[in-house]
Amino acid sequence: MMESFKEFKYRFTYPNVSFIYETVFDRAEEEYLEDYFDPEDGAFRLRISKPQKDTLLHDFLRVRLKLDYEYFEDKVGYSEIIDEYEKILNTYHVPFLPSKEFEGSVNDDGLLKECEDTKFNYIQNLKQLLIPIFEQIVQESFTILFGDRMFLLKFNEIVASITKKMRKYDYPEIMKRDGVVKRATYIPRWLKDAIFHRDKGKCQVCGRDLSGLMFLGEEIHYDHVIPLNLGGNNDPTNFQLLCKEHNLSKSGTQIITSERYQTYW
Ligand SMILES: [Zn+2]
Repeated sequence: MMESFKEFKYRFTYPNVSFIYETVFDRAEEEYLEDYFDPEDGAFRLRISKPQKDTLLHDFLRVRLKLDYEYFEDKVGYSEIIDEYEKILNTYHVPFLPSKEFEGSVNDDGLLKECEDTKFNYIQNLKQLLIPIFEQIVQESFTILFGDRMFLLKFNEIVASITKKMRKYDYPEIMKRDGVVKRATYIPRWLKDAIFHRDKGKCQVCGRDLSGLMFLGEEIHYDHVIPLNLGGNNDPTNFQLLCKEHNLSKSGTQIITSERYQTYW
């Protein structure tokens, strides 16, 4: 069996995750939501119709991070941008030419404007090196956020505000009826394993142990946290573990998840 371990550097990930919480819980940027979730975008339609490893949340994190840094670059001077980017590259142990050497190698007695040009070019240089780092921050942030079911519920409520407006006439291949996405034909093994692992093999309503280690004969149900009838979708972020009883008794108009987590001691 393949084990998927990666090296994480949480230092820049937690501040990023904190921004994401603000965006999702405060909904201050409601008017921009369609920039993140556009029904006209084929990748968005694929993600809501069939579980993809690169989820809606990955894409949201990616766009958000790019916008955050664009905003940051607009607000501060070149020197602060350079400081921040060099700090990130150092944290991730990415080698780069330090700014003094870079400036010296281009021009060391130029006018101020030339100096600014040099800094600008240097920043562009750093940004190239940052592309894979930003992607890593996206993956790290996803790993943290996927563990928080209430966050995922809030996130999917935002997505639902978009899918509810999608009409069957416009997207007949993925919509069951207006505002309701078709059920995915199957849930892949990798997703079942991830949900089972995250939810510790327990029903998220009653806490019943579904692992089969101590109690036999329990059925495992993979439930859409936001039901498809309420604008839910088939992205991995919208699934949880339930026992048979609670999945069958949960009607298509109920949204239930759990904020219970096991403590270490
Ligand atoms: Zn249950």
